[in-house]
Amino acid sequence: MSAAYKIIDHTYDTVVVGAGGSGLRATMGSAQAGLRTACITKVFPTRSHTVAAQGGIAASLQNNTPDHWTWHMYDTVKGSDWLGDQDAIEYMVREAPAAVYELEHAGVPFSRNPDGTIYQRPFGGHMQNMGEGPPVQRTCAAADRTGHAMLHALYQQSLKYDADFFIEYFAIDLIMENGECRGVIALCMDDGSIHRFRGHAVVLATGGYGRCYFTATSAHTCTGDGGGMVLRAGLPLQDMEFVQFHPTGIYGAGVLITEGARGEGGYLTNSEGERFMERYAPSAKDLASRDVVSRSMALEIREGRGVGPHKDHIYLHLDHIDAKVLAERLPGITESGKIFAGVDLTRQPLPVVPTVHYNMGGIPTNYHGEVMTIGADGNPETVVPGLFAVGEAACVSVHGANRLGSNSLIDLVVFGRATGLRLKELIKPGTAHQSLPKDSADLALSRLDHFRHAKGSSPTAKIRTEMQRAMSQHAAVFRTDELMAEGKQKLGEIYQQMQDIGVSDRSLIWNSDLVETLELDNLISQASVTMHSAYNRKESRGAHAHEDFPNRDDANWMKHTVGWFNGWGGQGGDIKLDYRPVHEYTLTDDVQYIKPKARVY
Ligand SMILES: Cc1cc2nc3c(=O)[nH]c(=O)nc-3n(C[C@H](O)[C@H](O)[C@H](O)COP(=O)(O)OP(=O)(O)OC[C@H]3O[C@@H](n4cnc5c(N)ncnc54)[C@H](O)[C@@H]3O)c2cc1C
Repeated sequence: MSAAYKIIDHTYDTVVVGAGGSGLRATMGSAQAGLRTACITKVFPTRSHTVAAQGGIAASLQNNTPDHWTWHMYDTVKGSDWLGDQDAIEYMVREAPAAVYELEHAGVPFSRNPDGTIYQRPFGGHMQNMGEGPPVQRTCAAADRTGHAMLHALYQQSLKYDADFFIEYFAIDLIMENGECRGVIALCMDDGSIHRFRGHAVVLATGGYGRCYFTATSAHTCTGDGGGMVLRAGLPLQDMEFVQFHPTGIYGAGVLITEGARGEGGYLTNSEGERFMERYAPSAKDLASRDVVSRSMALEIREGRGVGPHKDHIYLHLDHIDAKVLAERLPGITESGKIFAGVDLTRQPLPVVPTVHYNMGGIPTNYHGEVMTIGADGNPETVVPGLFAVGEAACVSVHGANRLGSNSLIDLVVFGRATGLRLKELIKPGTAHQSLPKDSADLALSRLDHFRHAKGSSPTAKIRTEMQRAMSQHAAVFRTDELMAEGKQKLGEIYQQMQDIGVSDRSLIWNSDLVETLELDNLISQASVTMHSAYNRKESRGAHAHEDFPNRDDANWMKHTVGWFNGWGGQGGDIKLDYRPVHEYTLTDDVQYIKPKARVY
């Protein structure tokens, strides 16, 4: 197979796939450690989805209100509905302030308080005094363009440390041998050449897979390619049933309105003009955590109190806020409101609806970024040598069953940095590489060749739409056994259709039809694991709201799901599920394990 395609070889110490916030921070750390580092990315680094992050990045700096890292830890554990691993959470919240100052020194232009310190805004689920309240101001922001500012600063830093960038290269599959990762095969989309990158370590920083749903706030490039590669390598993904719906996607377009809008005083109303969040979350109200607000909105709509001609959405009010404050703190969303909803925020309410936003699940790792699997001896935390994952692609797990707003950006930089530190410990710069297996490129090239010449009657876009509709219908905000059983059946049939897929362009140069087909193959395996994991979990926890099992069941379900998928391109398709224990311990004795409690806001 590989004979038909000429392969260009590259040798590095570290190969990072992805140039969003997490990939760039890992690239920077690896290069800074003196390791020869390549960063492969399918879009230009500053176009990664991180660019769209508006609201900000959480760290207990105590600039605007009292705060403490243990309070941040409590909120994150409670937000995760006790599915997060508390050692990893402790690591993240303790490192958070230093990580934000590092960004500041790298050039991120944070918004400022009059005294010159970094401005911090309130965000959903972030409280003072170990959850007691009042709300804390913990979210550092560069107006509503925080991710944009971060990407630019981190890209500049990576260049400063001499990392090599391979831009508009599409990574197809990992090179694995005897359970170890040796590198990755990629297609240069610009000239159609095939590249083999060898590395002592491969870091997957490929972002989320939100695009397996019909409407998502994430970019069209968020197709979870790293998760797809991991499944094809015979490794599992973790906690895939937990998909976050953001309360305020613009109705119709799905474009995000940051939670910072409610942080700055925005509120939701139903068709009766009622501020209904006061009923569902008497204390945190509109700033309850995302799963709670999304579910409350869905209930209002279901009970006939939605707004608009079809009574199928909710209003977000910002019209009572001083126009000067809006212009200074939320300029981007003022523009989005105009463009995507035709609404002048300073005068009218904005039509919003819960929209797929974030994947809590992903590639299981420890807090060093090392990928873990269940070993042959049953050890659920067996490290896969040579393979790392960071960012939304990974599941550390700090977000558990539900992520708090502004906790993803901090996850990217804290664990991106941790991965760099681990690479420095493990790899001596310039160490010789082991010889590669003969068939190192076979999986990648046989898939590429198969789809390139696929002559079936189902276009990629048609199968993709069917998958997205099935996911949006059968694995959304509210779930039942019946709905999800139907969903499993439907997705199985849609997966079969992949055998009859048709790609019309046979060239290798800017063949977007082919690249989207490879992306669909990645999406559909993860959609399937998501649906099966969701059907399997007979309780409600965080973002997984199961109507037949409305309560959290710690005795039976306080455990991580891990799921395998066998096959690609419509072949195979069997799913296996197993479990990993949640870490019911902290990293140090400075803080005690936070015991499960009922989760009310
Ligand atoms: C609209 C929006 C607003 C958000 N706002 C906030 C916020 O305010 N605060 C917060 O904490 N979180 C926010 N989030 C969540 C957060 O922004 C994301 O979880 C985070 O940016 C993901 O970063 P990442 O580094 O994991 O991946 P991404 O930024 O998604 O980057 C993925 C990278 O992988 C590369 N890649 C993918 N597949 C391949 C492949 N096959 N080959 C080569 N390269 C590949 C891409 O080119 C890209 O560089 C928001 C998310 C969205 C969608």
